Amino acid sequence: MKKIVILGGGESGCGAAVLAKKQGFKVFVSDSSEIKKNYKKLLVSYDISWEEGSHSYPKILDADIIIKSPGIPEKAEIIKKIVDLDIELIDEIEFASRYTNAKLICITGSNGKTTTVSLIFHILKYAGLNVSYAGNIGKSLALQVAENDYDYYVVELSSFQLDRMFSFKADFAAIMNITPDHLDRYEYDINLYTRSKFRISRNMKEDDLFLYSSENKLSAENLNYISGSPETIAFKIDSEDALKVTYNNRDFSIDKRYLPLKGKHNLYNYTVAIYASLFLGIEDDLLKESLLSFMPIAHRLESVDYINGIEFINDSKATNVDSCWYALDAMNKPVIWIAGGVDKGNDYSLIADLVEEKVKVLICLGEYYEKLDSAFKDIVPKIYKIPNLDSLMDVCLNEGEEGDVVLLSPCCASFDLFTSYIDRGNQFKDLIQKNKK
Ligand code: ADP
Repeated sequence: MKKIVILGGGESGCGAAVLAKKQGFKVFVSDSSEIKKNYKKLLVSYDISWEEGSHSYPKILDADIIIKSPGIPEKAEIIKKIVDLDIELIDEIEFASRYTNAKLICITGSNGKTTTVSLIFHILKYAGLNVSYAGNIGKSLALQVAENDYDYYVVELSSFQLDRMFSFKADFAAIMNITPDHLDRYEYDINLYTRSKFRISRNMKEDDLFLYSSENKLSAENLNYISGSPETIAFKIDSEDALKVTYNNRDFSIDKRYLPLKGKHNLYNYTVAIYASLFLGIEDDLLKESLLSFMPIAHRLESVDYINGIEFINDSKATNVDSCWYALDAMNKPVIWIAGGVDKGNDYSLIADLVEEKVKVLICLGEYYEKLDSAFKDIVPKIYKIPNLDSLMDVCLNEGEEGDVVLLSPCCASFDLFTSYIDRGNQFKDLIQKNKK
């Protein structure tokens, strides 16, 4: 019996464990921290053994295949050992794809992945396909393949997942954009990160469709990284009133003004979703209706509420500079901007012009305010440094006037004060509701 070890007992790891068990492997899950209760229950129900709090090296290094959680960096000691010993080391999505014949619609990029995946899923479901979504969006592909396989999956792929994918093949793949992010995991080398994104094209054939943005420099200038042989199309946005896509001699167009998701960035997301739909032959009427009925998702430019005529927008998912650029670009009122958290190597000069034009007050949230402060102290009239959420609303309400917008678009990861961007966004939303009363 072949042995599989899974490193990381979260959503992807436990899903992979179940699929491996069903496929007849001897399975062991190892997590260096605590495994959540619901995942333990899942493992127990499939009679899968596991450990938590540390890694038992001999047991792990005895495996034939190791599946690694995308959260574990390549430079972790255990990974180095595995690589030294030349043990097969793969991602959960790679593993799952070996056991399904479903069509795989795959999205990667620095920003816009979850929105685009959710949008495509909505369209395909609306059109009546037997479809699910999976991957980085937080749902294990392997578990679904094991328990209830579908005909189509819309898969969100991070660079960390792509790094450990080899024989995986997408039917449709798009790189939304490539901008600096996660450079701490790529030796601060943007080329390594870019190359990782292009791995999504591996093994693709002539019948498959690969999209990239011709308006995104790092994508357009690195097409030599395409490694399969897919039909390749560049997408871009023009300034006309209608959003138009032509594919396979079919023209589709929709009036931009009626689309529910606002901001230029969402036009890219819509465009890629329309290409995916045309690729799969979704009819015009269904496509139109589904585009118009998809509503904004939480934590992404989410308009939460108004207090004293001040609009509060939760863009907690903006964990890098580029996503914040699009948030600021979409603002048409004076902005009180809340930023800060764990910096991932940010270059704030990229948003300096927009900040100068739109931001009247900057609130640096958390202890790592120095970089923000020095980047913007000559540009923004007023800067506050607050260590936590306690005084946040007082500052917002004192500084804000009717017609202003308070925008939480942090440019940073959330792990200094919060457990995740979702926790950060939810706490922000709770504060808004408390202050409304
Ligand atoms: P991801 O899954 O890639 O992190 P999300 O759809 O969750 O992307 O959006 C993350 C952040 O980026 C949000 O702040 C959102 O408003 C912004 N965003 C969404 N789509 C794009 C895009 N195509 N380009 C740049 N920023 C985007």
